[in-house]
Amino acid sequence: TVNCLDQHVEKSPNRVALIWERDEPGTAVHVTYRELQDLTCRLANTLKKYGIQKGDRVAIYMSVSPLSVAAMLACARIGAVHTVVFAGFSAESLAGRIMDSGCKAVITYNQGVRGGRTIELKATVDEAVKNCPSIKHVFVAQRTDNKVHMGDRDIPLEEEMTKADSTCPPESMDSEDVLFMLYTSGSTGKPKGIVHTQAGYLLYAALTHKYVFDYQQGDVFGCVADIGWITGHSYVVYGPLCNGATSVLFESTPVYPDPGRYWEVVQRLKINQFYGAPTAIRLLLNYGEEWVKKYDRSSLRVLGSVGEPINKEAWQWFYQVVGEGRCTLVDTWWQTETGGICIAPRPSEEEAEIVPAMAMRPFFGIVPVLMDENGEVIEGNDVSGALCIAQPWPGMARTIHGDHQRFIDAYFKAYPGYYFTGDGAYRSHQGYYQITGRMDDVINISGHRLGTAEIEDAMVSSKQVGLPWQGIFCAFAFIVLKEQTARVDHIKEELKTIVASKIAKYAVPDHILVVKRLPKTRSGKIMRRLLRKVVTEQSSSMGDVTTLDDPSVVKEILDAYQKYKEKNSS
Ligand code: AMP
Repeated sequence: TVNCLDQHVEKSPNRVALIWERDEPGTAVHVTYRELQDLTCRLANTLKKYGIQKGDRVAIYMSVSPLSVAAMLACARIGAVHTVVFAGFSAESLAGRIMDSGCKAVITYNQGVRGGRTIELKATVDEAVKNCPSIKHVFVAQRTDNKVHMGDRDIPLEEEMTKADSTCPPESMDSEDVLFMLYTSGSTGKPKGIVHTQAGYLLYAALTHKYVFDYQQGDVFGCVADIGWITGHSYVVYGPLCNGATSVLFESTPVYPDPGRYWEVVQRLKINQFYGAPTAIRLLLNYGEEWVKKYDRSSLRVLGSVGEPINKEAWQWFYQVVGEGRCTLVDTWWQTETGGICIAPRPSEEEAEIVPAMAMRPFFGIVPVLMDENGEVIEGNDVSGALCIAQPWPGMARTIHGDHQRFIDAYFKAYPGYYFTGDGAYRSHQGYYQITGRMDDVINISGHRLGTAEIEDAMVSSKQVGLPWQGIFCAFAFIVLKEQTARVDHIKEELKTIVASKIAKYAVPDHILVVKRLPKTRSGKIMRRLLRKVVTEQSSSMGDVTTLDDPSVVKEILDAYQKYKEKNSS
């Protein structure tokens, strides 16, 4: 926090650090570096008073706000490790993360507010910590005026903060001490606590923020990601604050109160860099250009996209309509594990070309390589393969909390000597990189990563069905019923409820199709890629199906899918 706060407070205490764009339109709150330092120190002293020490883990289950940023920085200040859990996750997901990381405390709000609706954050925490003996205290801040149940271990946060000292000497930390962990999905098993450390992470977040987005002193930086994801950590909090920037905290949704929200905010806050996700762009594109053109976007200089491959149509709309063809648009590829942006069109030589919908160029120190199926490096251009990185960089994750062997197995085993990203990529004629998508059973729903295994585990717990599956931008589940029944619709609803309560609402499959059996290899492995081909309607290119136990299953599933589609379109 010395790098993110104290150094700026010394030079320019009244510079605005955060602009909190609250859910309620037009009620932005400005927080200076001095004020943020004050908040952070009071919160840090409060944590200390209740026994949180260097090395302890603290869960943060809050919507984005100056206080939630202060909570992250307060942990960092006293050497505690924060693990932010996206406030859309269910009690069971939250409990799983708390238990895995052994958190001593949770910091939360009484309620959250998003898109005009209130979210019961404290109630969810209560439900979660019932089964978490490691939790000694729950710090509860007030986002709304509503009263919530307060029990023995609950502490009213703001009340304690007013009593606390506003100075707090920072704990001295080793460059390789843990700064935070953040859970993300893998292709198997439970979510993994990705561990990032102090110096390398911060350096990498700050450098990429400055050079990819051409951040200049005085710019207003608008990354609309939530702090529950890595993008929020690196480009809402750590990168911008380390650079002394003014960072926007966006609490709302792209369509609240209407689809002009982003651009109204750009106009009102005079945002210079706007960083968002393709899923939101695709959504807004459907509402038409009027919602964009209504507002003055002349402050915009750089646009950024992250989270999933951006299709050409969405890229063009973002570039032409939002950016009026005059802003630099950077498609940035990176992951929770990489800490910061690894491949993006900028930095580069001034005026260097940007190819639409391509991440293109590796950042300083990043050496991408493509691997073939035999684990050999693919040389030359106009080639595709598994995307690996050939040498370490400052921002890379150091381990998976509590399971270093899993870290090695997941990232360093497939291609010894290289970091394997899990993504596939194409290297163009000119040597630019284009990310083609995940190569494993990880899917991207609304820009958020989920392992198919997690949804499957949740659904299988209903005891009614065998194994499901999913599509690309939404989950599409294939289920096999254990017994024939007329209550199929009922079961589908039940499955949806289970996924929402075990994981999160966004993970709920949009489609559930009952099939007689799934395509399995002779050794019993489900060939998910075939199901993906079915739902993306690429059944003409099924590829090699000779390893299937019974190839006739493909036609069976295709027929069922056709029927389902006809039924749903009529
Ligand atoms: P997460 O760690 O949740 O941020 O997810 C990282 C994954 O999102 C990557 O492994 C990619 O599959 C995908 N991803 C992120 N950014 C991009 C991008 N610019 N283009 C294509 N895929 C992306």
